[in-house]
Amino acid sequence: MRHWILLVWLLACADARAAEEKSAEAKTTEPKFSADKTGEKGPVIILKLDDVNVKTKTAAINGAWTRVVDYIEGKKLKASLGIICNSLELDNEGYAKWIKDVQKRGAIEFWFHGYDHAVHTDDGKPYNEFNHRSYEEQKDRFVKSQKLAQEKLGFALPGFGPPGGVYSASFDENTVKAMSDVPEMKIWLYPTPLDEAGKKLNEQGKVVVLERVWDVNLESKVGMPDLKKLMEGFAKHPGREYFVLQGHAAQWDKDRWEEFTKIVEFLESKHCLFMTPSEYVASMAKK
Ligand SMILES: [Zn+2]
Repeated sequence: MRHWILLVWLLACADARAAEEKSAEAKTTEPKFSADKTGEKGPVIILKLDDVNVKTKTAAINGAWTRVVDYIEGKKLKASLGIICNSLELDNEGYAKWIKDVQKRGAIEFWFHGYDHAVHTDDGKPYNEFNHRSYEEQKDRFVKSQKLAQEKLGFALPGFGPPGGVYSASFDENTVKAMSDVPEMKIWLYPTPLDEAGKKLNEQGKVVVLERVWDVNLESKVGMPDLKKLMEGFAKHPGREYFVLQGHAAQWDKDRWEEFTKIVEFLESKHCLFMTPSEYVASMAKK
């Protein structure tokens, strides 16, 4: 009799341990719902924050970046930040260390937001960095930026979000070809809703194209978070699986910052799950 009780007790302990291990595993591998009290699931939110850079070898990282990263980490959310890669050529040690430390903590994914984010001109007409340039020139910008990321940060940048600047296309067919050829590139934070070029690239299977939904965004104008606009747009897309929300955190003053935090709180109240681009793509592959 005593042996039997002991056996049951041992089995119960083993079970409890297995359950504990399982939940510990879930904690480390699965992203957490920010508001999951009811078990409801809202869409996945990929925060796409553009323009991480420094201008000199000794400049400190803009406080706007530390503020947003601290906030995201403090709330146990996820986000992604786009680096302008020629900033890595400056050998600004504090800057590189900050990026590496943030990357290591895991809540933020960095992506490629252009080599110089500069507008170039041809015949007096302005073009964005990845528009109206040869395939070789464009590919070179991808390759040298990935090399800089590897050398200065120790990791590649799997995502790409093309920089803007002037009101014209931010990429062309040569960019699409470069995305399909440069091995490090896995995800495109597409600047528009999915079009034919994006669809074709998606079908090739090497790159996952994550589209934008025009009326659902952090900002109504560049640098202007707008909760009301986001709420209106959000209501128009029930059942949508994900939204890529773009913002320019370095341009947010106190009021704009507050507006951004209200947007995050609204999304939490809608049971949204915040993910990095890579995390979301991995979750798509599991389906
Ligand atoms: Zn930008």
